[in-house]
Order: sequence, then C-alpha cells, then structure tokens
Amino acid sequence: MRSWALKLGLLALLLSSGARAFEVRHGPLTVTYQDPRDRQQLGVVFKAWDAAARDLRALGLPPPPTRIEAALSAADFAVRTGEPANIAASTQSAVIRTQRFTALARSGLLPITIRHEAFHTAQPSGIPRWLAEGLARTFSGEARRDPPGPTGLTSLSSEALSAQLLRRDPVQLAAAYVEATRRAGALVRVRGYRGALKAAGVS
Ligand SMILES: [Zn+2]
Repeated sequence: MRSWALKLGLLALLLSSGARAFEVRHGPLTVTYQDPRDRQQLGVVFKAWDAAARDLRALGLPPPPTRIEAALSAADFAVRTGEPANIAASTQSAVIRTQRFTALARSGLLPITIRHEAFHTAQPSGIPRWLAEGLARTFSGEARRDPPGPTGLTSLSSEALSAQLLRRDPVQLAAAYVEATRRAGALVRVRGYRGALKAAGVS
C-alpha cells in the first residue's frame, strides 16, 4: 500500500503542471528535469557547466548560483519561456530554461547550449542585446560554425541589430546572430571580453 501511495504521489507530481519532478544539486548549480531519460545527460550538463564556470571566473565574470530547468517537451518549453520551439534555451538572470536535455543532445547542441547560457548568467546587467548574444556565441564556440558569407546586415546600427535579434523571423534572426557574433568577436580579439564590455560602457 505504501509503495502504491508513493507511486501515485510521483505520478501526481509528474502530471501537475509546472511540477519539478526531479531535482539534482551540483555545487552551486541546481538542475531540474521532468523527463526521466534526461538523467542520462546530467554528466554532460555538469561537465559543460564546470568548464564554462571556470572559464568565466578566469575572465573576471563569475556566474552566480544558477538553476537549469529542462522542459518536458518543446510545447512545455514554449509555455515556460514564451519562446518559439526552435529556440534551444532562454535565460533570465540566474535561471536557465532549456529544451529537454535528450532533445538537445540528439541535435549535438547540449554542451554548447549550456556554455552559451552560462555566459548570459554571468554577463553584466544593462549589456546591449547584440553584444550579449555576440559574446555568448563567441564564448560558446558557436561562432566557429557560422557560415562565412555576407550577413547583409553590416550597415545596421547597434540599436537596429539588437532590435533585429528580438524579431521572430528565423532567417532574419540567424543572420542577426551571425552579424552580432562577428562584431563581438572582432572586439574580443582586440580588447578581450572585459575590454569589449568596457567599450560598451557596461563593465
Ligand atoms: Zn543567447
């Protein structure tokens, strides 16, 4: 009887909306996930987080105690974040909301997503959106996967580029990410991460 009650309790927890079925601590990092299969990806998540945290501390940008919440499904992710289903993750201050870990792992995106979002938790407040995305993608290594051709956006002002990053059109959004990453990458090569932030007046 007792074990039934326990099982029913777990089922209720799984079914109630917004429930955090599983929670794991890893130092100052807390990870919650809802699909039990995501447990198999925890080692990858911890390893990517530890490397990112170490590299961020070396840059003088220590990440705060952070919570990573993996969604149950793409639909659940959209409800939690208000983002479209093709977005891998979304970070608000020290809470990172991701797609299901297993889904990200299948696309080869899990470590890079954790590293990208780790940068967002550590970035100074008030950073312009184009610089935040450009630096996060430079830090994560996504820049190395970008296509080499023209973005068609080189004449955009920083403000217009930030605005473009908020638009939902996937083709325009991809070009805006590449453009922001090229601009941020050029700053990092000359001034380093701290110098890039200082140049934007946010550090
Ligand atoms: Zn980002």
